[in-house]
Amino acid sequence: MIAERSRLAPILLLFFAAAVAAQDFPPDQQPPQPAEVPQAADPAPAPRPRRPAPPPAPPPLSIPPWPVESVGPPILLAAGDPASDAFIGPPLVPPFRILDSEVLPGASARLEWNASQSFSGGEVVSPVVVVHGLRPGPVLCLTAGVHGDELNGVEIVRRITNEVDPKQLGGTIVAVPIVNLFGFSRNSRYLPDRRDLNRYFPGSRYGSIASRIASSFFENVVRHCDSLVDFHTGSFDRSNLPQVRADLARPQVQEFTRGFGATTVLHSPGTRGMLRTAATLSGVPSVTFEVGGPGELQPVEIAHGVQAIHTLLHKLGMSRNLPVWSEPQPYYYESSWVRSDAGGVLLSEVTLGQRVERGELLGKVIDPIHNLERELRSPVVGRVIGMARNQVVLPGFAAYHVGEETSASDAMHKAEAGQTPAPPVEEDAPPDEEHAPGDELLPPDPEDEFEAD
Ligand SMILES: [Zn+2]
Repeated sequence: MIAERSRLAPILLLFFAAAVAAQDFPPDQQPPQPAEVPQAADPAPAPRPRRPAPPPAPPPLSIPPWPVESVGPPILLAAGDPASDAFIGPPLVPPFRILDSEVLPGASARLEWNASQSFSGGEVVSPVVVVHGLRPGPVLCLTAGVHGDELNGVEIVRRITNEVDPKQLGGTIVAVPIVNLFGFSRNSRYLPDRRDLNRYFPGSRYGSIASRIASSFFENVVRHCDSLVDFHTGSFDRSNLPQVRADLARPQVQEFTRGFGATTVLHSPGTRGMLRTAATLSGVPSVTFEVGGPGELQPVEIAHGVQAIHTLLHKLGMSRNLPVWSEPQPYYYESSWVRSDAGGVLLSEVTLGQRVERGELLGKVIDPIHNLERELRSPVVGRVIGMARNQVVLPGFAAYHVGEETSASDAMHKAEAGQTPAPPVEEDAPPDEEHAPGDELLPPDPEDEFEAD
């Protein structure tokens, strides 16, 4: 058996080298080459031994043998298992280890992340879907449902994991469709203690429940990522045009934003505690992908998000399929909110995505008690990238989010120079509207300052 293996090994390694060389990557992406391949494919003949040499020992393995929990096709299990008759050597791509499991190249697995103990002491586990490609490549993490009532991203992530074939994939997708399973099960943005999970990353093992959940997720999932996309929607009856929000002052993040096809890109430095901010600061370039509004599945917005992620996979060299966009380039924006100065009922004159002139009527706030109408007009030439649905509003209510188009380089230069949009764009909601209308407000939490770091 050993002799047979030694005759087969050079042929098989040459086959692998040819297979790797035949892979077509985007011109600007070159896959990392395993060290074994160039050595084995070296055509220089080995010196002929004077007498028959003893059979060479199998090459040392850089990875331990598969544990029985390994997930993957039987043929791959056998091919990589030194104890098997079908063993042909270590694979080009090692298994992906996460959450006390490992996933073999060419396989998908549905794992579990144990978020925390619930009130009743039972475990709350969120699914983590790993799609581990046969070819080498980066680890892209897709997260959704950090706010439990934001559903479009949940469906986008689910579709991506269903559509991507691990045998055609380079690299690895780690997808968490519902990070805040507590909120999702109650159709709520928040955790059970009414904290906003997206203000607590990277979290602490010894803090509040929000901080502990954030810490567990960050250590067990986010630390495995090379880059991350966190899906959100508008909040509290607001809807957002599909848009990538990113800190363009960071070159790695700015480069990452170029991968989403014709998706709008909005410069937003982010605030402390957000998943994308914490991940970026820990060396994982991250963006927020805002798409649509909360509480429902919106087919057009979902289709845009799915296509954008397929485009990103191609850009990262993970997929050979490049979706076609009617508008090939992303649009870069700075932005400002238009607020109502009066209370009343909002009645919009514009639609999401509409381009507007300076001074153009966006909508009216109607006071039916005093029979008054107040107009809201755009302060800039731009595009409506987010807006509230028609509803009862209070003075100061942020009704329209208007983006001013700029170039990627201009946005980046301004960001680097510290000329961030004023006021900074908050994720989902202006800071004075942390709680949904009708929610009872909790008194300030004395732990908040403590948890800030
Ligand atoms: Zn959100």
